[in-house]
Amino acid sequence: MNDILLSVDALSATYNHAIRALSGVSFTVRHGEIVALLGANGAGKSTTLKAVSNLLHAERGQITEGSIHFDGAAVASVSSADLVRRGLVPVLEGRHCFRSLTVEENLITGAIGRDARRSEVRADLDRVYALFPPLKKRRLSLSGFTSGGEQQMTAIGRALMSRPRLLVLDEPSMGLAPLVVENIFRTLKRLNVDEGLSILVAEQNSTVALRFADRAAVLENGRTVLDGPALELRQRADIKALYLGSPSESAARLSSSSSKAVA
Ligand code: ATP
Repeated sequence: MNDILLSVDALSATYNHAIRALSGVSFTVRHGEIVALLGANGAGKSTTLKAVSNLLHAERGQITEGSIHFDGAAVASVSSADLVRRGLVPVLEGRHCFRSLTVEENLITGAIGRDARRSEVRADLDRVYALFPPLKKRRLSLSGFTSGGEQQMTAIGRALMSRPRLLVLDEPSMGLAPLVVENIFRTLKRLNVDEGLSILVAEQNSTVALRFADRAAVLENGRTVLDGPALELRQRADIKALYLGSPSESAARLSSSSSKAVA
């Protein structure tokens, strides 16, 4: 059996047919894995995740080279709504809750696309509340009045209501207190270990992402410059300077790297 759930192969992309955002991104996510996509501001993480979810065109983005396959199907030929039905469910940057709906109404919107029966929706809601207890207390509050952490949990909970096989998360830690980030990542790890949920997570917070991921790919200036087991990357003292430093510093460090360089 093919154990690759998602493959991104030599992906290049532009915005407005002019601004080059990606120029050679490659990585895979195997069934049951957590893969972290790391990189500094502007490295291309969000663009990659939008391409993976077939949402790039909504921002006037274009894939110019390369390919993406999810569960054997070319992502470019499947609409983003169909990708969700097939199990590729994005939680994109900014948490995107409907601010004027309650937390529970937001969660229920996640089940709409899959024609779930009322009893299934109830069971899935209970599951989300068990995973994120703060949401149960806030279930009748308007999302716009909940905290950043609660909004992030709502966005993830809504994605879980779609019963994903691959959860695609963009910077879940952004703007949140360390303890909240820790709790969110612990819950994601639990879902991964207990239920085999595969996760692709883009993060600037490499410290937390590398603790919870199985493998990581590092992007710099729209290219994959490093790809390896999270444990191996975590043990390297230079990893932060490596991908947050200037391109020349990074190149110098990479040449002495023992991990698999793919630049
Ligand atoms: P961040 O964490 O800041 O979101 P990132 O690693 O996710 O960074 P991207 O947002 O993918 O990086 O940006 C990659 C490049 O594409 C950057 O040069 C950015 O300025 C450009 N870019 C991103 N979105 C757009 C857009 N909608 N239109 C034009 N250029 C864009």
